[in-house]
Amino acid sequence: MTDPLIPAVLAFRDNGTPYSPLYDDIYHSAVGGLEQADYVFLRGNALPERWQGRRTFTVLETGFGMGINFLVTWAAWRADPSRCERLHFVSTEKHPFTVADLRRVYAVTLSNPVIADLAQTLASAWPMLVPGTHRLEFEDGRVVLTLVLADAIDSLPALRLRADAFYLDGFAPARNPELWSPAIFKSLARLAGDGATFATYSSAGEIKAALTQCGFEYRKIQGFGWKRAMLVGHFAPRWRVRRHEPPTPLALEERHAIVIGTGLAGCAAIERLTARGWRVTSLERHGSVAQDASGNPAGVFHPMISRDDSVASRVTRAGFLYALRRWAALEQLGHRALRGGPGLLQIATDDDEARAISDAIATFRYPSGYVTPVSATDAERLAGMPLARGGWFFPQGGWIDPASLCAAQFAAAGSLLERRFGVRVGRLERVGAQWTVFDTAGKAVARAPVVIVASAHDAARIAGLRYAPTRSIRGQLTLLPAGAVTQLALPVIGEGYAVPLANGVTLTGATYELDDPDTSLRANGHLENIERVAQMLPAFAGVIDEVQSSALAGRVAFRCVTSDRLPMIGQLADETRAASDAQRLRGAWPLDLPRTEGLYGAFAYGSRGLVWAALGAELIASQIEGEPWPLERDLSDDIDPARFLLRALRQGTVS
Ligand SMILES: Cc1cc2nc3c(=O)[nH]c(=O)nc-3n(C[C@H](O)[C@H](O)[C@H](O)COP(=O)(O)OP(=O)(O)OC[C@H]3O[C@@H](n4cnc5c(N)ncnc54)[C@H](O)[C@@H]3O)c2cc1C
Repeated sequence: MTDPLIPAVLAFRDNGTPYSPLYDDIYHSAVGGLEQADYVFLRGNALPERWQGRRTFTVLETGFGMGINFLVTWAAWRADPSRCERLHFVSTEKHPFTVADLRRVYAVTLSNPVIADLAQTLASAWPMLVPGTHRLEFEDGRVVLTLVLADAIDSLPALRLRADAFYLDGFAPARNPELWSPAIFKSLARLAGDGATFATYSSAGEIKAALTQCGFEYRKIQGFGWKRAMLVGHFAPRWRVRRHEPPTPLALEERHAIVIGTGLAGCAAIERLTARGWRVTSLERHGSVAQDASGNPAGVFHPMISRDDSVASRVTRAGFLYALRRWAALEQLGHRALRGGPGLLQIATDDDEARAISDAIATFRYPSGYVTPVSATDAERLAGMPLARGGWFFPQGGWIDPASLCAAQFAAAGSLLERRFGVRVGRLERVGAQWTVFDTAGKAVARAPVVIVASAHDAARIAGLRYAPTRSIRGQLTLLPAGAVTQLALPVIGEGYAVPLANGVTLTGATYELDDPDTSLRANGHLENIERVAQMLPAFAGVIDEVQSSALAGRVAFRCVTSDRLPMIGQLADETRAASDAQRLRGAWPLDLPRTEGLYGAFAYGSRGLVWAALGAELIASQIEGEPWPLERDLSDDIDPARFLLRALRQGTVS
């Protein structure tokens, strides 16, 4: 059977890759994809009935394609007055459509006005096509699409979620042999919630065998259209098919959390929890938000490019993209942080670095909306002043005033947030299902089933962690008054950074002094900042002499870092229980560790609080609620606050 639409739509694809799931999607949409999605996947999974009255319901799909199954599920959720409070739809896609292709495909294939409308909303939120996990929120966060742009073989094992329904799309062994490998079915078994259902329009013998092997029961039912039969069924293992259970929500009587610290980490956590309807009590020793590291006049945000796409690059990419979405959502709600226009320039340290990063950008085929290499001439044109070298340009990077972001997140929390300032937290104690927080005078100041420790340098102490080593790095910023240098057109980073603020002031920074507790501004710190920036922006050389530097304004703050320079985000380990079981846990993995019920950490954000805080908060909120994690599991392990305990257990040094 041929369809004239197929070659026409395939021609839209700019890389011309022949791709069978895409072919399938387009084919099916052309011959009635909406009805098929409804029949095969919704009704095949007994939806919408199964999600009714539930707090959350999670669908896992293999192969997003043009998103027809998602759109049909979303429309059904919308139309259902008894719908679940929060619908999670998680899908993988190895060859995502470009947004232009998506729009054109929708224009020629979707005649249903409701679906066409949702499709436009989806297209408007379509992520930049860079690898990793993208979390898109619709309907004020009640419909959440987590799109993993990677091969299903790699991405399914990297998911951490409890699926209620599987849409096994593209599972036709003849067309998609890689999709029905035993590894895929093992992953499905690892992710299945109790009684999770599945549906697939394939009924091949290999699929049946693999499903049975991994604990699924199936039955054949009437297929859709020209397919005589399809398979539906549910997860009902008769023997153990997995080592760990998928995540569950905390069993709680009340959805109330205490957040300690109101810097970027704490305020983001407050926003993510209150957005889910949680009541939050915030405890802060100062008189207002963002008085410590998060109180700098401005900070820059941008992805990190590396030749090997390192862990730090991947976490930063996910954090950067998620933060952009969250900030935009806050702005839409009327909570606007102070920030500069889009665009940030990174200048290479030398020609070798410029070449290496250009190669990396080409190798990973990053879209130009994410990053693009720029010659010295182009860089100068962008910056509006001479530069020592070229580098690369982040069109969505920029600067933001962190305290105004914290204030916006605080404001968004509204009446769900109890704001308590001037409270210096001393310690925590768990009695029954509640945590009690005591101040340093030993007085009980707050009680709740969940505590998030977001108090930077004081987090490990408050949480009683012995295996969470953090250090302090002093950083001094310099504010060059208007007229001292020509104003840049956009922030420039590399050897230090220079950020054009309002009123002609330029922020430069920052010094990096390990374990130096000096809070006073130092003249030589200002000179160091300016000299460093002058290596990439020659116009800064000599603008301030030694005498003038002592009169410059600036700010000193302290970064909280770990030895691996990655943040500490997630549920905390129960170190006492781990120590008493140290022998058995010597070869443990993160999921093997005993965890402390209701206790989470969000700290050690180093020099990247702006890009990590929102994603960190979403990860913690997802862990608390038993929702799909917004980050691949290997990356979550890399930022797990228990990783230092795990290392010590492996080395046999836990006592
Ligand atoms: C000089 C400098 C430049 C930087 N530039 C950038 C940049 O350009 N881009 C970027 O992304 N990041 C930058 N950073 C890093 C960024 O500022 C931090 O990562 C971020 O502010 C950390 O946020 P936080 O909430 O973890 O910590 P903090 O902002 O330090 O907040 C911790 C909060 O916990 C409170 N607290 C602590 N102990 C207690 C207690 N016992 N009881 C009650 N409250 C307590 C504190 O009062 C504080 O409000 C920079 C940092 C420095 C120092």
